[in-house]
Amino acid sequence: MKILLVEDEKYTEKALAEILKKNHYDADVVFDGEDGLAYGLTGVYDVIILDIMLPKKDGLSVLRELRGSRIGAPVILLTAKGEPEDKVKGLDAGADDYLSKPFHSAKLLARLRALQRRKPELLGGGVLSFDDISLSPHTLILSCGGRETKLKPKEARLLELLIDRRNSVVSKNTILEKVWGFDTEAEDNHVETHISRLRKALESIGAKTAIRTIRGEGYALAERSGGHGDV
Ligand code: CA
Repeated sequence: MKILLVEDEKYTEKALAEILKKNHYDADVVFDGEDGLAYGLTGVYDVIILDIMLPKKDGLSVLRELRGSRIGAPVILLTAKGEPEDKVKGLDAGADDYLSKPFHSAKLLARLRALQRRKPELLGGGVLSFDDISLSPHTLILSCGGRETKLKPKEARLLELLIDRRNSVVSKNTILEKVWGFDTEAEDNHVETHISRLRKALESIGAKTAIRTIRGEGYALAERSGGHGDV
């Protein structure tokens, strides 16, 4: 799950970024409303955590503009103490949830899990499934039957993306954007390396699910081979 965190207060931002990282969320952090809007408009984020009081452009304006541009990613607003009217305005502007600062990290994580459960392809416990494999984006455990292996965060994020887009071919550019983000020096060969590691991981647990390379286009998940005779 890829998260955009828009927060200008260094202390809160640092603490949040740390909590997200510890819990295997992949987060990009920006510090003002203009950057928040520009990053949010890319549409690559699964959840946006947005502070209301921000330099350059306030959080509510950012939220309205995102919604106006049909960016539907769930947004959690961060409100300061004593601004109860912001919560109402925020929900009106299209926020999905809010947290009043200061808050306990457990609260944020619970909100994130709740938002993640809304994704239709997620089964109970936040586990993603495709054919004979399942992946927990939280624990990074990939399993097939009784066998399992632990993935690295970027490998898990890449597999999550392929599972999300199960009916389409995912290009290298999309993978770079979604898995590595924009502030990155990552190149095509990073994608290839991670695809190859994922294939080894799938093999190591005896999964029949495979990652197909579609030359010149990208990658796609393929169900267990064997066709109709394989009952
Ligand atoms: Ca602020």
